[in-house]
Amino acid sequence: MEYQVLLYYKYVHIDDPVVFKEQHLAFCNELGLKGRILVASEGLNGTVSGTKEQTQAYIDAMHQDPRFSDMVFKIEKSESHAFKKMKVKVKKEIVHLNLEDDINPNVMTGKRLSPKEFFEAMQEEDTIIIDARNTYEYDLGHFKNAIRPDIETFRELPDWIRNNLNEYKDKKVLTYCTGGIRCEKFSGFLVKEGFKDVSQLHGGIITYGYDPEIQGRLWDGKCYVFDERISVPVNRTEEATVVGKCYHCGKPEERYVKCGNPECNRHLLLCEECEHEHLRACSKECKEHPHNRYVKEHSAELQV
Ligand SMILES: [Zn+2]
Ligand SMILES: [Zn+2]
Repeated sequence: MEYQVLLYYKYVHIDDPVVFKEQHLAFCNELGLKGRILVASEGLNGTVSGTKEQTQAYIDAMHQDPRFSDMVFKIEKSESHAFKKMKVKVKKEIVHLNLEDDINPNVMTGKRLSPKEFFEAMQEEDTIIIDARNTYEYDLGHFKNAIRPDIETFRELPDWIRNNLNEYKDKKVLTYCTGGIRCEKFSGFLVKEGFKDVSQLHGGIITYGYDPEIQGRLWDGKCYVFDERISVPVNRTEEATVVGKCYHCGKPEERYVKCGNPECNRHLLLCEECEHEHLRACSKECKEHPHNRYVKEHSAELQV
């Protein structure tokens, strides 16, 4: 059976997110979709999977709603569902940037560039490229020469920018993220901070990878995604490379696991040998943690 994964968001006012959530969850369950959707008064952010018919029915229904009539769906083919369950959650923001004064991207945001425009802009002089994602996403793949903010979550990004990129305010700044949603706010934040020329990759890395003309050029490695696929290809040309490295031994590796210590859960690129040797842990403490998951899963073989 042919499945599809939909990735979409819209910054638009939603009157009562709690009521919306209940109705939307019922609707998604009725269609047979699985996935994760965030609802806030500022909008909607979702990834869902289903058969072609199910996902198309969802798109059609959403486009009937005036609030979402122009919502863009990124559609990817898949061999199965990309999630185990259907969850809809109410949040304060649909992406959590944690600003003192929140940014409304409908009022303030960077210029939106198509994949082709972004590809060309990356090669211009006096330009910096800022990856708006987390380090573990960057480490699996990123645009060539992109700056890697040293952050574990998106809400750490504003402070990191203030502490590290102040002298770049006169440069041309390009930002990108997976589907474009984080950059809508983040590029608005950069404009507000006084960066003079800010642009964002419209539709994000996913859209960039599907552009028939650009074919993901200038992207190294893979793109981390927040579902069971873990990663998807971007660069469809011969110059595609592996940039991920095993956390412990440094060998090329694109396999992500979560640290075996359930209280740590850090994302680690880990080769199979190192996973075994270090019991899937990022540190000595995590390796020796009494609830280490790798030990639990492999207790039989480890005890022989
Ligand atoms: Zn290794
Ligand atoms: Zn750990």
